[in-house]
Amino acid sequence: MADAQKIGMIGLGTMGSALALNLAEKGAHVVVQNRTEARVPEFISEAGALASNLEGAGDLADLVARLPEPRFIILMTPAGAATDAMIDDLKPLLSAGDTLIDAGNSDFHDTRRRTEQLEEAGFKFLGMGVSGGEEGARHGPSIMVGGTADAYAPVKGIIEAIAAKFEDAPCAAHLGPDGAGHFVKTVHNGIEYADMQMIAEVYGLLCDAGWDAPKIGTLFGEWGKCNLGSYLVEVTEAVLLATDPETGKPMVDVIMDKAGQKGTGRWTVIEALKLGQSATTIEAAVAARSWSAEPAVRAAGEAALDPAGLAKVEVSAEDLKEAFLAARILAYAQGFRVLQAASETYAWDLDMARVAEIWRAGCIIRSVLLDEISSAHRAGLPEGQLYLAEGLRQKVIAGLPALRRVVSGAALSGRPVPALASALSFIDTMRLGRGTTNLIQAQRDYFGAHGFERVDSDAKGLHGPWAGHGM
Ligand code: NDP
Repeated sequence: MADAQKIGMIGLGTMGSALALNLAEKGAHVVVQNRTEARVPEFISEAGALASNLEGAGDLADLVARLPEPRFIILMTPAGAATDAMIDDLKPLLSAGDTLIDAGNSDFHDTRRRTEQLEEAGFKFLGMGVSGGEEGARHGPSIMVGGTADAYAPVKGIIEAIAAKFEDAPCAAHLGPDGAGHFVKTVHNGIEYADMQMIAEVYGLLCDAGWDAPKIGTLFGEWGKCNLGSYLVEVTEAVLLATDPETGKPMVDVIMDKAGQKGTGRWTVIEALKLGQSATTIEAAVAARSWSAEPAVRAAGEAALDPAGLAKVEVSAEDLKEAFLAARILAYAQGFRVLQAASETYAWDLDMARVAEIWRAGCIIRSVLLDEISSAHRAGLPEGQLYLAEGLRQKVIAGLPALRRVVSGAALSGRPVPALASALSFIDTMRLGRGTTNLIQAQRDYFGAHGFERVDSDAKGLHGPWAGHGM
């Protein structure tokens, strides 16, 4: 099959516009269409020299008619019902062998269902996770593709061309069948939630210690030059140094403490639980955003529960740096554990080193750590655990005392650090050969005759001397 040279783009919002310009710049001829038709000529008129590689279509039928068979059409529309409706409208217009590429943030279950339905109808379908925001989409995002190898082959060249590059290697990969790409993108976003939450917790502790936003921003600027270097640390520096043009105050000081979310963090947590896993740092981050939506309730709590009686936070910037590095590694480790569980459950055979490699540039969670993480995966993880890979293990060990001081200091002063605390509890659980679930299993056996195993026997389903007490 010929490589895709002419490609359709439906949805000229933030991401679709940027991706269309990126495609045009890399030599593709892009036929663009948008629900609000007026956006099409406006977009082309703003495209400057790239306009010669762009062609506007009035409606879906017009878009389809302008593309040669087999067609390649990218959807950049809101995930969920809008994308389903778009596919339903397109299907009667397409020919067998045409390929639809959903580049939105779709739930991977939807991608699996759509793949089955479209393949049954003779079409090809790729679920393509795109990370990097508007800037990434325009100049080089990280691209996580799911679908058949056959469907990916004709678009591989152009997808790799538009992707970010890490030392000349494209940050785009075909990761597995059907929902694999969208699942990896979902977990990417889950890790993003955790990282952002940990940064916000560090910021909160520094605020309590009397630091103002520019001073904290400058500290993040310094951290960006060491092994904490990452896009999110850069973003944090930039937003903390910004001034509100209306009041002259630091911009963050006039922004409501109320964070939005579109679902990918929550999906990561839900899927982790369904897979028998747990991603507690990500869960803490999702919970923090959810609870942030209740400012009035929190204000009532502040008045009623008197947190003012607590001592001021006493943690050093150096401790925060070490603690954040250790916790960041643990958040990545949790994300990869979820990916591993999904890979086994859905038989995706995900190449974790490849996943880490394509996250090294272009995406929101890109960080200097990811090069080390991909090398650790390539070398093979001890017991399958990222935090046991030698270099990362050493960093976690080095950071743990600081993480303990930060979490305990925060607790004593009433400052919530749910993501940092959950990272600490996670690693403390995973470094205890014998924990306390022996008691839980005894309780379960007592009231439900669930049985247990003994430390000194291979026998299963044993019961304690409390037989008959069950309810
Ligand atoms: P925007 O809101 O900027 O744009 C949405 C686009 O979809 C517009 O072109 C809009 O058309 C069109 N659209 C909306 N509803 C419908 C509908 N019911 N039927 C047909 N077209 C519709 O969104 P983004 O560009 O930010 O996001 C697009 C996709 O990319 C989403 O799935 C998002 O989750 C994902 N994404 C977004 C990222 C980001 O940083 N923004 C990052 C990575 C992925 P109209 O002009 O008529 O409103």
